[in-house]
Amino acid sequence: MNLQRAEFLTSIADLAKLPKDGLPQITFSGKSNVGKSSVINRVLNRRNFARVGETPGKTVHINFFRIDERAYFVDLPGYGYAKVPLAEKERWGKLMEQYFSVPERVSLGILIVDARHKPTADDVTMASYFQNTGRPFVIVANKLDKLKKSEIEPNLALIRQTLRLDDAAKLIPFSAEKGTGRDELVKEIFRVCGE
Ligand code: GDP
Repeated sequence: MNLQRAEFLTSIADLAKLPKDGLPQITFSGKSNVGKSSVINRVLNRRNFARVGETPGKTVHINFFRIDERAYFVDLPGYGYAKVPLAEKERWGKLMEQYFSVPERVSLGILIVDARHKPTADDVTMASYFQNTGRPFVIVANKLDKLKKSEIEPNLALIRQTLRLDDAAKLIPFSAEKGTGRDELVKEIFRVCGE
């Protein structure tokens, strides 16, 4: 597995259509605009693979990318965009609950938060989805390049505390823009894929 062959597979709103070939599923989630597409692009070393700057809050879909025919990157719908109609928010909640109701489905959960801010209530909910599955997960604190050096440690501590991460949980300081943290994240991905 070298992350060189990446193809967009499908976008689904209905979990009955999930791929059933048993390849590991590596999920990416985070609030709208946190840089989820940019993180995926950075991991794949591509510029415009997962779309960047999409209109936030459009209909909830799960995007599947097949990577080297060895794994799926699962792009879960962004959340927390204020202007989303209630019905759409409910759809999001239902889709996430269904997706995470089969814990074995998730080989690695990657939750992306904004390194600059205290995680939102939705981030806390998302982190608890991961922690409750008991499956491997990592938190990526993106946009690190926007922090002053002196802000990094206190911000990471606040993220850990707000998401109630235990000491064993991995929190990766990351910048999709600069590439900071990419190697560490790729190592986690390879590890769960048995590489
Ligand atoms: P998504 O909605 O979560 O998929 O977020 P996008 O990947 O579309 O990114 C949202 C905005 O944040 C874009 O303008 C990106 O260029 C910017 N962005 C993403 N990651 C970083 C980062 O690490 N540093 C900086 N400075 N900007 C970033």
